[in-house]
Amino acid sequence: MRHSIVAGNWKMHKTYSETHTLLDELIEKLPSGKEVEVIVAPTFVNLASAVAHLEGTNVQVAAQNMHQAEGGAFTGEISAQMLTSIGVETVIIGHSERRHFFHETDAILADKVNTALRHNMRVIYCIGEELKDRENKQFLNVIFNQLRDGLFHLTKEQWSNIVIAYEPVWAIGTGMTASPEQAQEIHAFIRQEIDRKYDKSVAENTSILYGGSVKPSNAQEIFSKPDVDGGLIGGAALVADDFVAIVNAAN
Ligand code: 13P
Repeated sequence: MRHSIVAGNWKMHKTYSETHTLLDELIEKLPSGKEVEVIVAPTFVNLASAVAHLEGTNVQVAAQNMHQAEGGAFTGEISAQMLTSIGVETVIIGHSERRHFFHETDAILADKVNTALRHNMRVIYCIGEELKDRENKQFLNVIFNQLRDGLFHLTKEQWSNIVIAYEPVWAIGTGMTASPEQAQEIHAFIRQEIDRKYDKSVAENTSILYGGSVKPSNAQEIFSKPDVDGGLIGGAALVADDFVAIVNAAN
């Protein structure tokens, strides 16, 4: 069901003790009774202890990635079953850093989505154009192709476990945020394409998050746009006060 979500992608940051310090600060400072789902995605090594630490709170834990195979000889990789066995039920798939630095193609990502859904996990699926696509005015095509190749093979029913994160690559970690109008334009486009492929109810029930240099000073304006259902936060998620302010800015 579509709802407001603020998720922190911690990327390759925070040691074990730093993870727990930040979680303690979040537990202390996050608002209670607000209608927004809060998710944190620490690194793999800290997932199990984060789940234990957050037990009894409203904060959910997500993984930043997973492998598409059920298991086997894939040195260094983590399976869906390993994640669910420690209580992690949400996974970020297709982050632009995975696409670029680790060469994850749409076909690989579609496989990962299938595996995650087979294990009843929820997927936060990231899409977004590079600066050159925006300059060449190809960004709608790029976004459409990522949607189609990563997700449009799914059934309508499977979409209840899909959240989309629109993260323009040029806005990630650069301080350059998409304007609220640019974010709204793309979010509305994504919703329209889901409607065209499936139907209005799938489109209206999918949460679409914005990511890319969201900070306390711009969160409220971005989140106020009708098709923006929250955010996927990088740098600002590593500072408790900033992350809490962004959660407070959610509708
Ligand atoms: P920043 O908020 O640091 O730009 O990162 C966004 C992001 O990549 C979240 O997944």
